[in-house]
Formats: sequence, C-alpha cells, structure tokens
Amino acid sequence: MYKIIDGKKLASELRLNLKNRIGEYIKERGEIGLAVILVGEDPASAVYVRNKIKACEEVGIKSSVYYLPEQTAQKDVEELVTSLADNNKIHGILVQLPLPSHINAKKVLELIPVGKDVDGFSAENIGKLCLNEECSVACTPYGVIKMLESEKIDVKGKRAVILGRSEIVGKPMSMLLLNADATVTVCHSKTRGLKEICREADILIAAVGKAKFVTADMVKQDAVVIDVGINRDENGKMCGDVDFENVKDKCSYITPVPGGVGPMTITMLMYNTYNAAIRSGN
Ligand code: NAP
Repeated sequence: MYKIIDGKKLASELRLNLKNRIGEYIKERGEIGLAVILVGEDPASAVYVRNKIKACEEVGIKSSVYYLPEQTAQKDVEELVTSLADNNKIHGILVQLPLPSHINAKKVLELIPVGKDVDGFSAENIGKLCLNEECSVACTPYGVIKMLESEKIDVKGKRAVILGRSEIVGKPMSMLLLNADATVTVCHSKTRGLKEICREADILIAAVGKAKFVTADMVKQDAVVIDVGINRDENGKMCGDVDFENVKDKCSYITPVPGGVGPMTITMLMYNTYNAAIRSGN
C-alpha cells in the first residue's frame, strides 16, 4: 500500500517551526528582510509573488516588493538590485523570473551577493552545493529533500533517477542526492532507453513539465515517486508529470499534485531567507 507524502501538511509544520525561530531572532537581532522584484505584468509571476508575500507574513519575515513596469530599462533594474545589495536591512533578494525579454536576466542575477541569493541560483551557491558546503540551495530540490527526510526515507546507496536537468530543479536535485550518497542518474530529452532507466529507480523524481509523462510501466515496484511537475491536463485541471492514478499502486511513497512539492518550495525560500539572515551577521 502506498503512502502519500503530504507536502501541504509538512510545509505548514515547517513554517510554524520557522515562525518560532524567527520570533527569537527578531528579539535578539531585529527584523529579517526579503526584497522581491517583479518586472512586468505576467499573471503567473504575480501569483507567485503574492504567495511569497503571504508566506513571509505567516513566518514573520518583512517583505518589500518592488513592482516595476514592463518597459523598465536594464540599468534601472540593475540599480535597484545594487542598492538592495548594499542595504543591511535586506537579507534576501529575489528577482521573479522570467524577466521581460529586453532584460538580460543573467546580468541582473549576477548583482545579487551570494549571501543574499535566497533562490540559490548563483554560480557561487551552485559551486558550493557541488562541493557539499553550506549554501543557499534552490528551493524546490531543497523541499524534495525535506519531504524524503520527513518520511525517514534513507537515500544512501539507493538508485535515484531524475527526469529533467534544469538549473533550478534537475541539476541541484542531482547534487543534493549525490551529497546524500544516492547513486544518481539524470535523464533529459536526449536520453536513450528512458523507460528502462526509470524502472531501475528506487527513487524517481519527475521534473519534465509534461502532464502525466511518467506511466506505470516506467515505475519499479515499491519505488518512491516524487512529482515536481505543474501542468494542466486535457480538462484544464492541475496535474503533475506523473500519471498519479495509474502509478500510485506501484509506489511505496508518492507525492500528489497539487499539495505535494509545490507548497514546500516557498517554505524553503523562507528557510533560505532565515539562514541568510543568520549568516549575515547584521
Ligand atoms: P524545464 O527547465 O523546462 O526543464 C525540463 C527538463 O525536462 C529539461 O531538462 C528537458 O530536457 C527535460 N525533458 C523534456 N522532455 C523530455 C522527455 N521527453 N524525456 C526526458 N526529459 C525531457 O523545466 P523545470 O523548470 O525544471 O520544471 C519542470 C516542471 O516542474 C514544470 O512542470 C514546472 O512547472 C515544475 N516546477 C515546479 C516547481 C514547484 O514548486 N513544484 C518548481 C519549479 C518547477 P532537455 O534539457 O534536454 O531540454
């Protein structure tokens, strides 16, 4: 019988724990500040930003949101990031992606100091992750690790297969699992024999971005299946990368969509901001 890993419940427990820790921090050292920059009117980005502000309110982090118009010049976005980088009341800086196409996102992100990079996207944080050093870890894979830990799923020596090699999910996920002593295979659109590779997985992590991509014949009996995907099915209903209904009976553990990895991502952003404040010395 499979067990569902309830990301919503775990996220709310973690946020409560964090709220207490932040309360203690504020008493001793003052407020923790997270700056969020949103350029343009992309509706999905606006929803993500709103959810981040709500999470900040829930745990006691002071959020400052900078809404910039779509046509904002590169120089103006860069100046804002630079001024936030110099502001010691701000412990984390988050630039909501994607930025409008006329803005060079890489140049903007490079201006965020490593200590304030709460998304964990900078080359330095990724390098530290590869070296298994303390750093800000990309929030989604960090949340997946917390989900595995919450169920005491030991990954040591296990065969982990990750579908997807993006900078924000697949690659950092592979490093986290490798650091935890799993044997890791990363698959992508050019991978040959994908089904066979997936069938060897004790832990299968799907981050492809294709509705119900992982079917029952790709899953080993009693595998742990983690679904990172957020898609719409043929009826417009939110679904993951895993064909949940047909796959679940083969799993020991499985995460649902919605209510799985999604709520963990923003929670880990709150943890990264708290840890950035702790490390800042301000
Ligand atoms: P992405 O940047 O589009 O990367 C998708 C990856 O899947 C790429 O590496 C791609 O391979 C691979 N892929 C595509 N088709 C494939 C196929 N047929 N077989 C094997 N691999 C294939 O996506 P992402 O940003 O990592 O996001 C993945 C999914 O997770 C999306 O649904 C996204 O919405 C969701 N997501 C959820 C959260 C959350 O909080 N729950 C956070 C982030 C993302 P190539 O590299 O060869 O192109």
